[in-house]
Amino acid sequence: MERAADLETDLLGPVLPGRECGDCTACCSVLTVDTPEFSKPAGVACVHVRGGGCAIHAVRPTICRTWFCGWRRVAAMPDAARPDRSGVLVSLNFVRSPQNCFEGVSINVRLMPGSDAIASGMAAAVLDAVCDRLVPVWVSDGTRKMLMHPDAQVAALVLSGEPAPAALRAEVAAWRERYGMFGSLA
Ligand code: SF4
Ligand code: SF4
Repeated sequence: MERAADLETDLLGPVLPGRECGDCTACCSVLTVDTPEFSKPAGVACVHVRGGGCAIHAVRPTICRTWFCGWRRVAAMPDAARPDRSGVLVSLNFVRSPQNCFEGVSINVRLMPGSDAIASGMAAAVLDAVCDRLVPVWVSDGTRKMLMHPDAQVAALVLSGEPAPAALRAEVAAWRERYGMFGSLA
């Protein structure tokens, strides 16, 4: 978890009424927290996690009060996709030294340890919900990641700068226009 202005609202949408964390603490364990006030490494439960909640809920750090995962923001994600129930945690991901324009700011669909979301179809449903905007989407399992959106052909054309076939021209141009701000696209 890391804040960059309010990119989460811009790219994922506002926090939705009716979607509550309940006893989910997935983000408290799975994600890196990196703020001046509070930090923890990825994949390690926060020391304040207690039986389905936060032991310091009333005085929890600012980042914990203001950060919400994709399920709390993306209406098209299934209600059943709450991370602790689905095994899928959606968040914005920021890479300080990206290798290409699809890495700097992206949506990360993270399959949590032991997740059966691929077999159950939940991963596909979540991807359907977030691969609908000009924001790159990666799927990761915490150690490896794969670019899912745009698809491989479009991504290769965006990065190479080669002319796109007519059927892909508008899509490639849209990605290049948005991510041209990163300078070299390759
Ligand atoms: S992962 Fe999402 S639903 Fe779960 S505690 Fe964090 S913000 Fe709430
Ligand atoms: S302080 Fe509380 S809300 Fe924040 S990461 Fe730890 S357990 Fe979660």
